[in-house]
Amino acid sequence: MTGHLITGGRVVTPDGVLDPGWVLVEDGTIGALGAGAPGADSPPVQDVVDVAGAWVVPGFVDIHCHGGGGESFTSPDPDRVRRAVLAHRRHGTTTLLASLVSRPVPELVRQIGGLSELVGDGLLTGIHLEGPFLSAARCGAHDPSILRPPDPDSVAALLAAGKGTIRMVTIAPELDGALHAVKRLVSAGVLAAIGHTDATEAEVLPAIDAGASVATHLFNGMRPLHHREPGPIGTLLDDERVTVELICDLVHVHPSVLRMAARHAGVERTVLITDAIAAAGVGDGVYDVGGLAVTVTDGVPTLAGGASLAGSTLTMDAAFRNLVRGCGLSVREAVAATSTQPAELLGLSKVTGRLAAGLTADLVVLDESLRPTGVMHQGSWVED
Ligand SMILES: [Zn+2]
Ligand SMILES: [Zn+2]
Repeated sequence: MTGHLITGGRVVTPDGVLDPGWVLVEDGTIGALGAGAPGADSPPVQDVVDVAGAWVVPGFVDIHCHGGGGESFTSPDPDRVRRAVLAHRRHGTTTLLASLVSRPVPELVRQIGGLSELVGDGLLTGIHLEGPFLSAARCGAHDPSILRPPDPDSVAALLAAGKGTIRMVTIAPELDGALHAVKRLVSAGVLAAIGHTDATEAEVLPAIDAGASVATHLFNGMRPLHHREPGPIGTLLDDERVTVELICDLVHVHPSVLRMAARHAGVERTVLITDAIAAAGVGDGVYDVGGLAVTVTDGVPTLAGGASLAGSTLTMDAAFRNLVRGCGLSVREAVAATSTQPAELLGLSKVTGRLAAGLTADLVVLDESLRPTGVMHQGSWVED
């Protein structure tokens, strides 16, 4: 006998919360779901799990993550990359892009080559390149000596190395050649994201017109908002064509500003990311991020000797919790921001991101305090 039946939980679907509701999983897929108790004609299953009082939400989709479980996606060792993926999966992430920080193009080409095989194996969903086409003035934890304009040869070399696995590239739109690069990426089916930028509104708008559609961690690594110069923050947040990433650790962005941004962008344009580094799921200490030493104190990573934040130690379940508990948004809004909208952005809305019959059985059971008590990935319970 195969299949699983989950009963008694508050099942969050696109049409509302089934409370209580049930979910039937067959062959890795959501076979059916409904309110109340399953009917007597329900097929026999391998296990029935009663999750009374808990939330059942779709598996999390993280489109910006550098590592976890002590490992970085820059590692050439597939087992170490796997450890990072599994560290996040235990916290509910069932779809993941591996983000790479700025490195010289030949080194990135090597890193992409290794990761693209793991995308082919299904461990990762794709690759996000955060740089090296970023502004040195807003470099954050990227080595400024490596940053460069997006010349066509470099863009072509990176895309070629990815063999279709690069799903998003972050670019500062004020750099020479940026608009051409945005168009090249979009025509290759790659999301062009705007980030680590000192651009003015007049420099951001043409990039959006050229097809850029994502704001890389809105607020962080950007020229600040000014009421007479909206810069990247005001321009990206206000433009209906742009989805905004938010780091919801309540440290990178103040809770009231997070709430303001999420409310302004609305459920269809808000996406939570972890921007996690290797320290996620491990603890405090000193870590290497793209060649720079990063110190993690009380869960907050900063560049050694400096005040700049250097990624986070978030996992998606914590981001979800923070949005609800720390910012006052609803569970349904949190589901949209952690699963439905990032899946949509990746073109995966018919595969994952919602609890609906026919989609992949990626789901998370969250207790009353929104902590995960069970994670299902492609129809199998993930082990601790
Ligand atoms: Zn960044
Ligand atoms: Zn990042």
